[in-house]
Formats: sequence, C-alpha cells, structure tokens
Amino acid sequence: MSEYTHDDADRSAEAAGNENGTEDTVLFTDFNLDGRVLAALTDVGYEKPSPIQAATIPVLLEGRDVVGLAQTGTGKTAAFAVPALSRMAELAEANGPTRNTQVLVLAPTRELALQVAEAFSSYAKHLEDFTVLPVYGGSPYGPQLAGLRRGAQVVVGTPGRVIDHIEKGSLDLSELQYVVLDEADEMLRMGFAEEVDKILEATPEEKQVALFSATMPSSIRRIAKQYLNNPAEISVKSKTTTGANTRQRYLQVMGPHKLDAMTRILEAEDFDGIIAFVRTKMATEDLADKLKSRGYRAAAINGDIPQQQRERTVEALRDGKIDILVATDVAARGLDVERITLVVNYDIPHDTESYVHRIGRTGRAGRSGDAILFMTPREKYLLRAIEKATRQPVEQMHLPSAETINNLRLSKFADKITETLASEDVSLFRDLIANYEQEHDVPAAEIAAALAVMAQGGRPLLVQDLPQAPKGQRERAGGGRDAMNSRGPSRALTEGNATYRIAVGRRHRVMPGSIVGAIANEGGLSSAQIGGIDIRSDHSLVELPADLSPEQLRALSKTRIGGELIQLELDSGRKPRRDREDGGYRQDRGGFRGGFRNDRGDRDRGFRSDRGDRGERGYRGDRPERGDRSESGFGGRGMGARKPRHGRG
Ligand code: ADP
Ligand code: MG
Repeated sequence: MSEYTHDDADRSAEAAGNENGTEDTVLFTDFNLDGRVLAALTDVGYEKPSPIQAATIPVLLEGRDVVGLAQTGTGKTAAFAVPALSRMAELAEANGPTRNTQVLVLAPTRELALQVAEAFSSYAKHLEDFTVLPVYGGSPYGPQLAGLRRGAQVVVGTPGRVIDHIEKGSLDLSELQYVVLDEADEMLRMGFAEEVDKILEATPEEKQVALFSATMPSSIRRIAKQYLNNPAEISVKSKTTTGANTRQRYLQVMGPHKLDAMTRILEAEDFDGIIAFVRTKMATEDLADKLKSRGYRAAAINGDIPQQQRERTVEALRDGKIDILVATDVAARGLDVERITLVVNYDIPHDTESYVHRIGRTGRAGRSGDAILFMTPREKYLLRAIEKATRQPVEQMHLPSAETINNLRLSKFADKITETLASEDVSLFRDLIANYEQEHDVPAAEIAAALAVMAQGGRPLLVQDLPQAPKGQRERAGGGRDAMNSRGPSRALTEGNATYRIAVGRRHRVMPGSIVGAIANEGGLSSAQIGGIDIRSDHSLVELPADLSPEQLRALSKTRIGGELIQLELDSGRKPRRDREDGGYRQDRGGFRGGFRNDRGDRDRGFRSDRGDRGERGYRGDRPERGDRSESGFGGRGMGARKPRHGRG
C-alpha cells in the first residue's frame, strides 16, 4: 500500500472523485459506452464513475491492458465489467451474436466469484441473450457443466475450478477476448499462482487483460510483466479510498473480556449489519454461539462450512434475518453486503492488508461505516502499522460504561411501556390492577414495579459492572491471571481481596505500572496479588488481599510513588462521596494513560449513585473525534466533555 504512484491516472482519478468538481466531474456518458450498458448503470443507480472507474474505463475501452490498483470498496468490478460488456455488445453488433465464452474473470473465492457474476449480470441486464456463469469449487459440477454447455459469454470462476473445466474440456477459451484477474494479490496470496499461470497459458495470444488488485507486491508485477501487454498502470491513492468514510477505533481489551466488550458495544452502538472477524474457524462458531445465547442473531461463516450454507448465511445477513456474521478472513473476502455498518476486528488481523480488506466490508462506495479493533496491549505495534498502511489515525475508544448501558436499558424499558400502552388492549389487566390496588391498598406504582420485575423474568435489568464472563473464562481470569490481566476491565472484587485507597492519582501522573511496581516491591506482594487499579484524579483505588499483614501495611504506608507518600489505607466506602468532590465520575473516566481503562468505578459506586445526572453525563469522553488523536496521542488524554457521536443515552 505504499506503492501508490502519483501519475496522470492518479490526477484524473482524483478529479473524478472530487465532490465539488464541476467541470472536471466525469460522467458515465462521457465514455463511449454502449447505450444498453449505460441504461443498466442508471438502473443500478450509479450517478457517476468512482475514481478507479473514471481512470480505467476509457483505457480499457481503447483495448489496452490495464493494471488497476485500488482499495476494496472502490468499485473495481464495474471498472472492468462495464468496458468489457460494452466491447462485447459492439462485437455482437458487428459479427452477430455468439454464445462463446468471451470474458473470463478469475476471483480468489467463491463468494467473490458470485458477487462479481452478480454485478456483471446487473450491468448486462439490457443485453439480449446474455449469460454470466459463475463456476467455483465446492459445488457440484452438474449445473456448471450444463451452464457451460449452453454457453456463457462471461465466466467468472475460482482458479481451481476453472482449471478443472479447462482440463475436462468443458470450458472452451478459444474465442476469449478478455481476461480479468480480480483481487489478484489475494489470489496469489492464497497460493493460486500456479493455477493463474496455467490458465493464462491456456488463453489465446490475442486478448485484453485487466489485473485488479489492492496492492502491488512483486508477485503481481511478475504476472503483469509476463502476461500483460504494455499495460497502463492505474492507481488510486488510498487516502481517497478505503476508510475515508469508515471511522476507525480501537479498544484495548484483554482476551477474556472480549465477549463482554463485544456485547456492550452491541448494546451501545448504532448498527445495522455487523461482521466480526476472528482468527480461526473454531472461533467463528464459538463466538456466533455465544452471541446467539445472549440473544443476538448471529451466524458463522468459515472455510469448513459447505458453500451453499455459506451463501445462505450471507443472504440471511443481506435480508436482515441475521445481524452479525462471524467470519474468518478467507470466508469474508470481498463480501459486499450493503447492510454492514460495523466491522469488529474481534481478533486483530495478522497483517495490515487483512485489516484493510476487513474494514473494506463496510463503508462501501461512499456509505459511511464503523470499524472497531479489539487489541490487547501486546498487539499495540500492529496498530501503528495499520495506521501507517491506512494513512489514517485509529482512535482509541473506551468500553461503554455500565452507566451508558444502564441508561440505554432504562430508556428501552420505558419505550416498551409506551409501545405497549399504544398498541395493546390493556383493559383486562387494568381492571385487575385496579382491583388489586383497592383490595390490598397498595399504590399503583408499587404494583407496576412488581409487574416489571415479573416481566424481567429474573434477568437483571441493569448491569452492575461488566457483564459476567462465561464460566470457563472467569476461571481463567481468576487465580492464575497475570499482572496485565488483573488491571483489565473490572470484575467483581476477587474473593479475599479488598479495595485500598492510595493518595496518588492522575494529578500525580501515576501509571498502573508504577503502582503495581511500588506495591509489589515495598509490600512484598506478587503482581498477581494486585487486582484492579482505578486511577482517579487525586487518589487511586487498588484491589489487594484483604489480609495484608501489619508489616506489609506499615511498609506500604511509607511507600512513595513519584515522590509522594501513598498512605495506603483500606477504602472506607466513602467513595461515591469522594468522587463527587473530585468533580465526579466524569473526570475519573477521562484519561487513563495507555488504556487498561477499567470500570471499577461503576461497581464501587454502583448504578444508584450515578443515576441522577445521567442525562447530562451520558456516554461521554469515550469517543474523541477523529482529529483529537493527533493532539492527544494514544494516551487517552484530552478527552473533554464532548458529546458522543451518535448522541445517545
Ligand atoms: P471493489 O471490487 O473495489 O472492492 P466493488 O466493485 O465490490 O468494489 O464495489 C463496491 C460497491 O460499490 C458495490 O456495492 C457497488 O455496487 C458499488 N459501486 C460501484 N461503482 C459505483 C458507482 N460508480 N457509484 C455508486 N456505487 C458504486
Ligand atoms: Mg472487488
């Protein structure tokens, strides 16, 4: 992604992408396209060509080979499909109709092949007697053979299956005019180099070749050199493409807390469709199951799931029958589902290219999207690489607090009451309640409260803290947890522990590490004995064993951090008061350098004490606007009293 060139094509691409552009705005009608193809573009609702389209369509129409470099979601499919169709329409006009295969598109995965085939058909909608046939592995040969026998002017296939058909003699390439390698970098990365070579060898000498890719590694250069004839290299700079309309954030979270983090985000964020990326096939099933058991409509796709089922799952997402797709990189490659408004990198990708591809699943062609990256502290180096590759800062976000979640739940609950009153006939129950009120002399509000408890069916309405991790994870997070872990988002106080107060806080610029270091050294504790740390403005709360010996207490009362006596003492439960004196909740949640932000405060204070001023506080400070990061760095500083983006709560 560092190879974007600054050539003429670039300039024209930028001009075409210029929203305010008046005279430089390029329209599809500016190209010499077949009228029927133009009509189809109007039908699908494309107003004007995307930058890569504006730059490549005229060159491809001239018949020149093209190497097109642009990020995902920039409209590469139409960039090659539209000129191909237009040229074929012309040929048919000149030479009469044919059912020979004239166009072959190679795509790395079945999903992608299907998607390209679908797009092709939509652009070919007004061409008569025209067939686009997808052929891919993992599905029966029968229908594909029948389709090929009937004849398809366009074949879109995965390399392996295309070779099979060439070898079987079912795919005749002798009349081929045009070959496209789509997502060429991915195709090669998936190990299809040999197949690609073989297929290109099997095509006629005279043909046009277009190669599209998000990146230009040397393997692609090699293919381009070997099989393309003096290609025009057209690149669209990444800053005008991927991510420009995708807001990227990261959340520091320890592995065992990811599920809880995910469900909190699901509760607090506005979203339509979501795709969550995990590293392994097993993890897709695992996460999908857990989300389902928490009431979300989720499904997994991975390479082991039969093709047809995968297609059905993607379709279900498209149709709104499910909301969350949990996927591996390979299974989700190239997916274009308009509903996806949020990409969650549940497991951080291994490389920046995967990241770019992942977030390319949202914010498609001008729509806006959100991407959230879960990152453990150890993975921080990858974040920098990602920022470099996408040329965009990734903002730090913090977990929606228990308070945010609770406010949302309360207002949802109230909405349900309103809805029910508006839509249901409540007369039977009204009489019943009226009778009860009289007979038992209990105020209606009390009765309503009892009914609300019944309606909750035993589920707590409010979270006290992070939702409990599932059992297995809790166990892992317990006892043997490491020092990092114990400073992660909060859990209930570990048994045998107590909350201590130390007289150093943010004002003294303490960091969790220095607290752990000082207490462990001076108090003779192992770092595993030190639990959650909550740094407040002028003091901090630390979870330590309840039974510290007098010696330990003495040593710790004399301990200094940054020159300040820490004056360790058992926290007396005056916390809520003190928080108020400190300026409240707000400041305490603000800046916790380097993450490890925790929600301890919520547990300690409980929901009760915070409820009063929720309207004013809302969910604040946790979502700096994009620009802030450059000033505040990664430290999570500088989070003033800003309103949330999707103002809620
Ligand atoms: P890429 O192959 O570069 O990842 P796609 O070809 O899949 O991108 O296109 C991404 C999305 O943008 C698709 O939903 C497509 O329909 C849409 N799209 C493509 N070209 C245009 C255009 N000129 N105007 C509006 N939307 C477009
Ligand atoms: Mg594509």
